[in-house]
Amino acid sequence: MTTPWGLPDFDAHEAINFITNEECGLRAIIAVHSTHLGPAAGGCRFWHYAKDEEALVDAMRLSRGMSYKNAMAGLPMGGGKAVILANEARTKTPDQLHAFGKAVEQLAGQYITAEDVGISVSDMIEVARSTRYVAGLPNSPGDVGGDPGPHTSLGVFLGIKAAVKWALGKDSLKGLHIALQGAGSVATGVALHACAEGARLSIADVDEEKAQKLAQRSGGKLVSPDEILTLEADVLSPCALGAILNEATIAQLKAPIVAGGANNQLATPQDGERLHERKILYAPDYVINAGGIINVSTEYLGDGDTSVVRRRIEGIPVRLQQIWSEGAETGRDPAAVADAMAQRLIGRA
Ligand code: NAD
Repeated sequence: MTTPWGLPDFDAHEAINFITNEECGLRAIIAVHSTHLGPAAGGCRFWHYAKDEEALVDAMRLSRGMSYKNAMAGLPMGGGKAVILANEARTKTPDQLHAFGKAVEQLAGQYITAEDVGISVSDMIEVARSTRYVAGLPNSPGDVGGDPGPHTSLGVFLGIKAAVKWALGKDSLKGLHIALQGAGSVATGVALHACAEGARLSIADVDEEKAQKLAQRSGGKLVSPDEILTLEADVLSPCALGAILNEATIAQLKAPIVAGGANNQLATPQDGERLHERKILYAPDYVINAGGIINVSTEYLGDGDTSVVRRRIEGIPVRLQQIWSEGAETGRDPAAVADAMAQRLIGRA
């Protein structure tokens, strides 16, 4: 099949901007997938790519993912993403961040940036010196904004509860066993919410010290990263890496539910069908992990306080139930149902 521009990941993106500033050595791509629902919102990734083409693929895929995530969270935001092509040493200068901010400013609000992998809150403060179109800046206690991690964790926790109700008919996580992959920002919040409700946790991280600390805090058990996916558990919650669900791993899963915060958990769309064939309930990642962007969007638009953020995050389990219910009626897997719903919402059915 021929694809526009010869790019398999091109999905009718509204614009793809290539930014080069030789003076400070900035090279970046800002992909605007859709502004159908509002300005294209999505973080900026700072990453070293072996080939430039990989950066373009990342920007195209991630910006489409943001269109879907924002639409499914009911936000008045479209989808976009920026990638800054780092050198091998991953050095980053204030001049590069200012030049990036200028490029965002030139798009006049078509794209709104925030933190992503490799970009910190202090980097965003630098970017904000050159553009108004920034979110994820530090906040005062009690104000909307700041670190999106705890909000993502809350949404994932509520999503796990919804999945447990749907698949196991239980109203509480009390006594249930959750296998948690990762012990970082999102996983920590999920673990603390779940143990407060009486869940039993198994935790793995490639950084064993981190996993050990979280296990101690949550009364959980430390397990090795090789074991975590295949544990006998009620819920597998991937909160670390993408593409962990593939033909080989899905065949070995023992948990009846997969519900976690990691982005892009399915290696391919067929893996959504594979989970479905094995009767494993899947909570589509970009639906369950939208708590952070809900907080970022509310901060940027200034259209609510912390109670509004909470209420919007409480919409995540409702959306998941709609997906599972449509899946049950049509026989389609939840990932495919979610994609189709998102496409309808952004006017691309
Ligand atoms: P983080 O960097 O704080 O934590 C990730 C953890 O995963 C690290 O501790 C890392 O050591 C661990 N890890 C890496 N490879 C692993 C492996 N093979 N096995 C076990 N652990 C491994 O990141 P985070 O902010 O907690 O994000 C976790 C995931 O959630 C990512 O996929 C991220 O894209 C996604 N996500 C995060 C947010 C957010 O608000 N932070 C929002 C949406 C999605």
